[in-house]
Amino acid sequence: MKENRLYRDFFLHFDILVMLGIFLVFVGFLMTMELSLSTFLFFAIGIVAYMFSEYLTHRFVFHIKSPKNAFLLKLIKRLHYDHHKKPNELKLLFLPIWYSAPSLFILCLLFYFVSGSISASLAFATGILFMFFVYEWKHYVANRPLKPKTRFGKWLKKTHTLHHYKNENYWYGVSTPFVDALFGTLKDEQDVETSQTAKDLEKRA
Ligand SMILES: [Zn+2]
Ligand SMILES: [Zn+2]
Repeated sequence: MKENRLYRDFFLHFDILVMLGIFLVFVGFLMTMELSLSTFLFFAIGIVAYMFSEYLTHRFVFHIKSPKNAFLLKLIKRLHYDHHKKPNELKLLFLPIWYSAPSLFILCLLFYFVSGSISASLAFATGILFMFFVYEWKHYVANRPLKPKTRFGKWLKKTHTLHHYKNENYWYGVSTPFVDALFGTLKDEQDVETSQTAKDLEKRA
């Protein structure tokens, strides 16, 4: 597949474009405010918050045991189970906008309740969105015929490939496998047995 085509598939994807629009609006608002050192601090907090939320939602929400409720099952299939079934299918690679936009809103609202400041929350939201794009891009590279250039990039692609093809109970962090190290799910590939359900999360006991 041509490199250009691979880039186009990512940047022109509907859900990515909408989030990019939201990002630009937020950056625009941020620019009208007085920037200070704390703006960068809140931006950085947003980045770290996204790393943890990415890990925790992947592990505890997306990998939840099959819900009995038909509607919930349908949601979780679209959000993650189907992606495990067909890891390379383009339209299943991206988080749908009906999931990303409300989660962004909830995270920012929580931050606003804690900080009580609109500008701090805006900086936080920008950090969240920045890391969201890093996540989507790293996830895209991990599941498409793109070769990462850096050692770190190669390692990310490898850990996510292990999550899909070796054992779905490890290597949850996509943009940041460091969080796996904290929670004990970053293992040496030799120490982990091959799982029969990595491609079919519905089949888990
Ligand atoms: Zn994946
Ligand atoms: Zn998964």
